[in-house]
Amino acid sequence: MLPLASLIKELADLIIECEVCGNLDTKSPCSICTNPKRDTKLLCVVEELGDLWAFEKGSIYSGLYHVLGGRLSAINGIGPKELNLDTILERVTKSKVEEIIIAINPTLEGQVTAQYIIELLKNLNVKISRLACGIPMGGEIDYLDEGTLRIALTSRQDIK
Ligand SMILES: [Zn+2]
Repeated sequence: MLPLASLIKELADLIIECEVCGNLDTKSPCSICTNPKRDTKLLCVVEELGDLWAFEKGSIYSGLYHVLGGRLSAINGIGPKELNLDTILERVTKSKVEEIIIAINPTLEGQVTAQYIIELLKNLNVKISRLACGIPMGGEIDYLDEGTLRIALTSRQDIK
């Protein structure tokens, strides 16, 4: 057990937070930020590292990330200063980002956080989008709650 424990400690000592996006890696800027194959025009804002991993696991996204490290929560005393929020304005201003994809969980606090970011970035010449909400794949309409169904209806997409 002891060699394993020391190996885990060694690994933990190697892991640092990326100064650009908030990802965890053995180097800063991290391997996503420095990967020349990533699309630097896209910036996906996520709450937690696990959300970044969910995108990476699926290999469905090739842009960059900005990990907030949580969401705004008045009840828990989490304001903009507690999150990786103060760097986003400067980062977007100095970069080639053309679209910011808000991939924050559609909870009440998540919506407040998303609105804060939209307000922060609204004067910049960048497109701001957010992930679609609605019916999950394999879901059934008659099992959906009213709120989800309402969002699915209002964010419906044209087919023809
Ligand atoms: Zn990074």
